[in-house]
Amino acid sequence: MGSLLLPLPVLAVILAALDAALVRVGLPWRAPDVRLFFHAYFLWALFGLLALLPAWATLRALERWTPRGPGALEALRPWLVLLGWMVLPVVGESIVDRHTSLVGFAGLFAPRAWLELGGAVLAALAGLFVLGRTVGHLPGVRTASIGVGLAFVLGMLMPGRKPAAAASSPGTRPNLLLLVLDTCRSDRLEAYGHTRPTSPGLAALAEESIVFEDSVSVSTFTFTSHLSMLSGAYPETHGAHLLDMRFRPERAHSLALLLREAGYRTGAFVGTDVLAGRTDLRAGFDVYDDQVDPPVCDTLAWQLVHAVQSLAAELVPALRFNGRPHWIQDFQRPGDEVLARALAFIRQDDPRPWFAFVNLYDVHWPYVPEGDGRERLVRPYAGPIDGFLFRSNAWQPGYVLDEHDVRHVNDLYEGEIHDLDALVSEFLAALELERGGTAVLVTADHGEGMGEGDTWNHDDVREVQVRVPLILRLPQPAPRGERRTMPVSGVDVAPTLLGLAGLEIPAGMEGHDLVSERVEPARERWVDDRDHVDPSDFRCALYSEGFKLVRFGRPPEVRYELYALARDPGGFLDVQAEHPEVFGRLRARMEQRGGGTTSSSEVGESAAALQALGYAGDE
Ligand SMILES: [Zn+2]
Repeated sequence: MGSLLLPLPVLAVILAALDAALVRVGLPWRAPDVRLFFHAYFLWALFGLLALLPAWATLRALERWTPRGPGALEALRPWLVLLGWMVLPVVGESIVDRHTSLVGFAGLFAPRAWLELGGAVLAALAGLFVLGRTVGHLPGVRTASIGVGLAFVLGMLMPGRKPAAAASSPGTRPNLLLLVLDTCRSDRLEAYGHTRPTSPGLAALAEESIVFEDSVSVSTFTFTSHLSMLSGAYPETHGAHLLDMRFRPERAHSLALLLREAGYRTGAFVGTDVLAGRTDLRAGFDVYDDQVDPPVCDTLAWQLVHAVQSLAAELVPALRFNGRPHWIQDFQRPGDEVLARALAFIRQDDPRPWFAFVNLYDVHWPYVPEGDGRERLVRPYAGPIDGFLFRSNAWQPGYVLDEHDVRHVNDLYEGEIHDLDALVSEFLAALELERGGTAVLVTADHGEGMGEGDTWNHDDVREVQVRVPLILRLPQPAPRGERRTMPVSGVDVAPTLLGLAGLEIPAGMEGHDLVSERVEPARERWVDDRDHVDPSDFRCALYSEGFKLVRFGRPPEVRYELYALARDPGGFLDVQAEHPEVFGRLRARMEQRGGGTTSSSEVGESAAALQALGYAGDE
């Protein structure tokens, strides 16, 4: 055991340095952070301590069963054995992670996962052997000190890449603010006719804006929907979905990149880890502020700890923490923090016009209003349901919600909207919009089921889940309180903002510029929801002719439902039999478009992104 005590701290420093350096290289928008190195060191030292016993047992077995090697190799043995026991669990976890999600282990039944795992073990053995042969004479206190010193410097000082400088000088373009209220359905806002006082601030903004009454999101998954807003492309085109959360510049444009090329300074400020910059959403942004979690959560070492704690929470209910078993990790940060950072960016002394994209995650599950919203909008309630709903520690499977429970959850949700509205109002006031020169577009990435037809959350394409606000305040708000009824979609966000900046809308963007283009009332709109682990849950909706056709599943195994939205605004009654001709036409359009054809191998291979999220439930 004594022979392992020198290697342990040395290996921990070297591995922590490598891990921290990998994080830095992968996350260039983060400044060097000394804490990251020390947090990583703490984790690796912990792994070293846990590895002591198996390493000691391995050494004993080697002594017993193998002949003694050359002296140098013999001296290196404890180092190599301990290194193996520290690194292999982390590498193994990251391989298993790539092939599984917490909602399914199917990927582990494919030979590929085991080939990778076997390959990693063989590579490690070969590496250790080569190391033993070539640098066998190295260990010793002096060599170890030099190694530690070098690793320490590497881990602490590895710099992030600087953001690219602006290309050209600006003319007089307006500032652009894209404010996405995550999970905020339009019918709960006063600006959209709600009668409870949920949102006086947005109502006041609407008085100076164009309110688009018929607005739908392109998806009900946060990442997919945001990418469509920021690229002007439907999910079918940009290709991202739950199991493959990545922006691919070869498939779609980037609004931020186009604006930056035109002389804008660009900043993104997000309240959820789902929109982390590592998904390449950061493309085109000078600043991408996504620090929901401490940086150590991005290290390989933490990923193993996270996997272990998630597993533990599956087994021990007390560790579930109302569905958020992530210890120091979180999925969201509060809106006031996000807005403060955005405001600091906006107020920078820089003559260029700015584009700020802000995502506020406060209204998303869990529904826990913390400001005045609770007092003002949550009516007295004595039942067993709380704002954590089905993921609450108090939730009893099989319990059927009654009308009081449903009303209470609705009150909590509206209380959160109220609190968010107050934050947004304060932020908008700080922008002094009345001075002109700044356009504001407020929208949401999807809505939220609040019990209508037993619809909860946002994992389907029900009307309550896709009807979102779209409020546009022009830089010089000429049309005051204008309301438009034309059909609009999240895919229109990028073209509209480009139009306001006076830029050309590139070919390939599928939305419309809502200010200067004429949008036909008969326009077709799509909602692509491929954000499910099981392809049979895929959904695609086509809005056309006043109807909504929904396809469930993936070709060739699909079924359809048709809703007549004029008399069934919630979209619950299937009227295929009544309208066979409409059904035939819309279905032919859908078949022509294809869609939802993500292959199962694509699904299996890309579960890593889902794992990075923690688990599938938090969209
Ligand atoms: Zn969302």
